[in-house]
Amino acid sequence: MPDLEALFGLPREVKFCRICNITNQRPNSVNEYEHVRSSVKSTIQFNEDGVCAGCINKERQHLAIDWKKREEELWALCDHHRKSDGNYDCIVPGSGGKDSIYASWLLKYKFKMHPLTVTWSPHLYTDVGWRNFQSWIHKGGFDNFLFTPNGKSHRLLTRLAVQNLLHPFQPFILGQKTFVTKMCARMDISLAFYGEMPGEYGTTGILSASGEEKKFSGYAGSGFSTDMLGGRDVMDLYLGGVSVKDIVEKHGVALVDLKAYLPLEAQIVREKKIDIYFTGYFVKWDPQECYYFSVEKTGFEANPVRTEGTYSKYNSLDDRIDGYFYYTSWIKFGMGRAMQDSAQEIRNKKITTDEGRALIKKFDGEFPLRYYKEFLEYIGMTDKEFRDICDSFRSSHLWAKVNGEWRLRHTANNDGVDD
Ligand SMILES: [Zn+2]
Repeated sequence: MPDLEALFGLPREVKFCRICNITNQRPNSVNEYEHVRSSVKSTIQFNEDGVCAGCINKERQHLAIDWKKREEELWALCDHHRKSDGNYDCIVPGSGGKDSIYASWLLKYKFKMHPLTVTWSPHLYTDVGWRNFQSWIHKGGFDNFLFTPNGKSHRLLTRLAVQNLLHPFQPFILGQKTFVTKMCARMDISLAFYGEMPGEYGTTGILSASGEEKKFSGYAGSGFSTDMLGGRDVMDLYLGGVSVKDIVEKHGVALVDLKAYLPLEAQIVREKKIDIYFTGYFVKWDPQECYYFSVEKTGFEANPVRTEGTYSKYNSLDDRIDGYFYYTSWIKFGMGRAMQDSAQEIRNKKITTDEGRALIKKFDGEFPLRYYKEFLEYIGMTDKEFRDICDSFRSSHLWAKVNGEWRLRHTANNDGVDD
């Protein structure tokens, strides 16, 4: 099969992590402002034993990290920033999911900080997501700013991101990231905390920095400040794979209606000395424990029904569009939602490698039908248009058409067409 093509610079040889089953096609975060269809993606590293960087980092955490020392570091950081004059001293962004509940609760009630919580609205809240968001604020006892971006711009950008990148979540990701920094600047708060560490990527706990001596984490690449633009004008950035200039000129969108997605001026970040940390750098992060914690503290509700494409009921369930983010990553990389969920649980030693494989076999690639009509309405496409775009993003080194049906050539279960 020498003529099979690997799109997006994906590794030609498909491998799965010996421990967590994640595919080596998994892309690392890219600078979304440069992301166009032809962008070459870097992918998760595997060592010579066939173990992925996510597992290696997690194992390092299990073995080597002195959590007591890390907690002391967090106390020191908090002591440095803590205000007792009636002002907020840090920002915790979140949607009211288990991770934001855990991070905000910990900071407020254990580390005696005074967090302001901020929320970039999901595209379309699910009922259970909205209830969880409300409980976070009402039962958890936090002030919150909820920002809802211009629905017309957001729909257009989401549609463009599907057409050009098959990435329905790109506008949300960009908006949400820049939003935190902008709220820090606006509220004159120089400290913010995300939740879990992005284990596959960095080893540093700081997301970005006001001080030059601090390292820039790869994960943060997108959306922090204009520092990352290398002197380019915002008109030359890309949103949904289209330049801002073209969105303004050809789609007739005013620049102000795109402002929520564009990075904050680097100068402001430096002047305000804004730093964003991962809470998961300082305290051990276990998604399942966060879930139990949230149920106990704010009455967090899991999904009453199983989430399509996976087996779990408590991961990212607040947005009706969530399912399409995972489904499209299955099309582009052969990596479905069950693979991503189970990889995390294997690394956290909740399930075994074989159990993960069984879950992948059962659920990966299941089409998210529940909110499909709303999703199509949202992006203004027909079923055929969406499916055709999906097919155009299937890399031939991953997919084969057998009897009119698309099938993966290689799977974690060794039952692909070419396995
Ligand atoms: Zn792994």
